[in-house]
Amino acid sequence: MRRLYVETYGCQMNVADTDLIFGLLGRDGFVMTKSPEDADVMLVNTCAVRDNAEQRIYGRVGELKRHKRKGDVLGVVGCMAQRLGADLLNRIPHVDLVVGPDGYRALPELIHRATAGERSVDVDFKSWEHYEDVPPAQDGRASAFVTVQRGCNYRCTFCIVPMTRGPERSRKLIDVIREVEQLVSTGVTEVTLLGQTVNSYHNGTHDFADLLRAVGGVDGIRRVRFTSPHPNDFTPAVLEAMADVPGVCEHVHLPMQSGSSRVLKRMLRRYDRDGYIDCVERLRVAMPEIAITTDIIVGFPGETEEDFLETESLVRTVRFDGAFTFKYSVRDGTPAVKIKDHVADDVAGERLERLIATVRQVARTKNVGLVGSTHEVLVEKQARRGELLQSRTRTNKVVLIEGLPTLIGSYLHVRLNGTTGSTFTGTSTAARRELAVVG
Ligand code: SF4
Repeated sequence: MRRLYVETYGCQMNVADTDLIFGLLGRDGFVMTKSPEDADVMLVNTCAVRDNAEQRIYGRVGELKRHKRKGDVLGVVGCMAQRLGADLLNRIPHVDLVVGPDGYRALPELIHRATAGERSVDVDFKSWEHYEDVPPAQDGRASAFVTVQRGCNYRCTFCIVPMTRGPERSRKLIDVIREVEQLVSTGVTEVTLLGQTVNSYHNGTHDFADLLRAVGGVDGIRRVRFTSPHPNDFTPAVLEAMADVPGVCEHVHLPMQSGSSRVLKRMLRRYDRDGYIDCVERLRVAMPEIAITTDIIVGFPGETEEDFLETESLVRTVRFDGAFTFKYSVRDGTPAVKIKDHVADDVAGERLERLIATVRQVARTKNVGLVGSTHEVLVEKQARRGELLQSRTRTNKVVLIEGLPTLIGSYLHVRLNGTTGSTFTGTSTAARRELAVVG
């Protein structure tokens, strides 16, 4: 019995790919371990989106070397592996494997060869690869990711993803449904559909609206989420499906990146400020209760103070429920490398701080307004803090409640009692009743 340790960095797509790797190598007799020191094979599933993510991975791969005994295998997989390919083998002599997101099917064979001392690289794009016959590993959670699309056909000038994940391709609807049904049979009631621009899903026959309707129609599925959509791909049919399908949750993570049309044009985002606002308005007409979160980059080449103020003002106009905010990170191989007018690091850092403060203030105001209301939550896990349980509303708000761990995986109604500004505390009568019985 060989033990496999996988460390995952980056987006939900990588988290889903790690489950896929466990599923794939589980078939080959591997069992999971949470400790690298016990592992026969250690894989680091990497992200290439920002330079500091890559630097962190170099550091971590260096640390893992001390757990590597004779015959053990250390591999780098994922987007950084895809981006650097054979270069990584040259740069890090104790790495045995470098495998991109389309090469996981070869892992059993490559690991076998690495055990015998052969180092390998597999970073070919395989447009047909959807890993249809590999059921991702499941650990009994009520919530699961389902990858419905791989790659990206947009060419945002700052983004390395089209280079690391290749062109967009969508799975067949019937295969997605089969996977969702299989997940339901293991106790899953909530799925998050994943794709780089998930709402551009189209397999030649069915579009994203069809997919939402079909997934929402699977018996046993109570919640459907998706991430990340592109603002340009919210067609009337998709909005209609979101409004019609009861399972589709009232939350969308809608990357904005900038509030300045001038910067958006340089980013090649293919919408301008007004186009983004229009998309938000259409989403709110379709789903009046919808919570909207976003991604924003500051310090993109050429961004002026005026551009930045437009970003800040758009945060206030949209009233985001939350945002992931980043300082622009130049990535070799992206078109933005050629754009001059770099913003000084201290200027970008200062803008980032201001933006974070604005995002927090806007989110806090919205969240304070929710205190006193009642929501359905899915209980996800024990919270890190004390005896509490972590749960999530349909609008993706995290609510900490008192209750027994037996409630994990169940749906409750909770009253929101307070907020830190981002997360909530709440009470559920049903959870309290159970606690009282036990205690
Ligand atoms: S839409 Fe743009 S930012 Fe998103 S993955 Fe594609 S290229 Fe990158």
